[in-house]
Amino acid sequence: MNTKNILTINNLSVEINNKIIIDNLSISINTGEVHAIMGKNGSGKSTLAKVIAGHPNYNIIQGSIILNNQDITYMEPEKRSREGLFLAFQYPVEIHGVSNADFLRLAYNAQQKARNQPELDPLSFFELVNKRVQSIEMDTSFLARNVNEGFSGGEKKKNEILQMNLLNSKLAILDETDSGLDIDALKIVSNNINNFKTASNSIVLITHYERLLNYIVPDYIHIMENGKLIHTGNANVAKQLERYGYDSIKANI
Ligand code: ADP
Ligand code: MG
Repeated sequence: MNTKNILTINNLSVEINNKIIIDNLSISINTGEVHAIMGKNGSGKSTLAKVIAGHPNYNIIQGSIILNNQDITYMEPEKRSREGLFLAFQYPVEIHGVSNADFLRLAYNAQQKARNQPELDPLSFFELVNKRVQSIEMDTSFLARNVNEGFSGGEKKKNEILQMNLLNSKLAILDETDSGLDIDALKIVSNNINNFKTASNSIVLITHYERLLNYIVPDYIHIMENGKLIHTGNANVAKQLERYGYDSIKANI
């Protein structure tokens, strides 16, 4: 399959409460690629992810976001999701009064409908989701519980990966999905992400730590600082970071 562009961001600047958080940032991501975005706390990584997903609190001052050749800069978040964008949140929200199974089925069926594919009734959906739950080594009891309610940090992250898998998105942005995972869970989640990856989708891993990148080898690593991507390199950048810190990268720019 030929590679094609999945996401292009041109000269994006974003502010909130008169503070510039994303500063003239550009990036281009093709199908079949895994990109990692690393950077210190507060460098703007989560803001970038949320702006790509269409979070309404941020003001776009300039620039554009193109998903699959479509300008989504001002598109509603639901529509972006139907166009194939998935964001796993750094801090997944708890939804009280909604069971995980219902939530996942509604999300799945909305996606199916948008693709003119058949929707699934609760029983057929349960069969499908049951297999996916097993592949991520979650207990099926998590389906009957309310979304993320009382889930541990690691369980919430697994639940995000379960969603990613079900929705079969074209571009999955995973914001610190590795944080809070013990080493076994990290391996399971990494395996799932590697299995999810195909030649026709793309993954963006936002992470602080090199350890995730031992399991999922990115094609590109971008270093973010003060809302800008200050360096782009290959997987070796993570090793350099782990050993010598962010300042060593800056010293070499
Ligand atoms: P990262 O994910 O890289 O740790 P964030 O994107 O969460 O960074 O935050 C980047 C900067 O933007 C931080 O200084 C943060 O305090 C600021 N920021 C994010 N959201 C808001 C907000 N709603 N109001 C004010 N400042 C914000
Ligand atoms: Mg963050």
